Amino acid sequence: MGRKNFIIAIDGFSSCGKSTVAKALAKQLNFVFIDSGAMYRAVTLYFLRNNIQLHDLETINEALENIHIDFIPNAEKIQVILNDEDVSEEIRMMYISDNVSEVSAIKEVRHAMVTQQQKLGKRRNIVMDGRDIGTTVFPDADLKIFMTASPSVRAERRFAELSAKGELVSMEDVIENLAHRDHIDSTREESPLRQAEDAFVLDNSDLTQEQQLSIVLEEYLRRKQKKAID
Ligand code: C5P
Repeated sequence: MGRKNFIIAIDGFSSCGKSTVAKALAKQLNFVFIDSGAMYRAVTLYFLRNNIQLHDLETINEALENIHIDFIPNAEKIQVILNDEDVSEEIRMMYISDNVSEVSAIKEVRHAMVTQQQKLGKRRNIVMDGRDIGTTVFPDADLKIFMTASPSVRAERRFAELSAKGELVSMEDVIENLAHRDHIDSTREESPLRQAEDAFVLDNSDLTQEQQLSIVLEEYLRRKQKKAID
């Protein structure tokens, strides 16, 4: 008999609005939302703080054993906890964005995170967003969404997000960071970002959040019916 819980995988390039849709969907359906990018960001923070060199695989493996990441939902947001410390704000800083793709391209890092992500998806209804969720983490996900948006829309969104937090960055830096991450994320050897064949593609360049949610909910209902029949 097939798996009973419902898994929604949302993938796409950086700053396509994946987590906004994922959060809204999880809230509406009462599913657990898991931001897989936050896990790679937390690992990056740990590596930077502990001055871990990206070619030193022995130290990386030791470090991965000492990294424990938890998500604690509360009224306003989901806290990201790295070894008992709330790192939710820190991991969104530009210096983490500037280093995260190099860290997440390391095979050992990916294996450790994918194992944790698969555990989080056991027996619970979840919405997980990232780059390889529908292809590697949950290739049997019940609904796979691949999100896209035009580069200028993505850069504007990211710039607005950082500015709202008071981080002073130039638009050029934002554009460069997005292009840099997209390139590494989609060309790395280990589980590169790519669209799953059976993914539902959502280009949200010209859609409001409400429109996106209603499109995705409609698709969810279709897949749910299908799952009940299968
Ligand atoms: O989603 P977010 O932009 O926070 O992800 C940060 C980085 O983490 C991405 O640029 C990518 O390098 C990495 N990532 C990944 N696989 C995932 C999620 C994120 O490699 N499933």
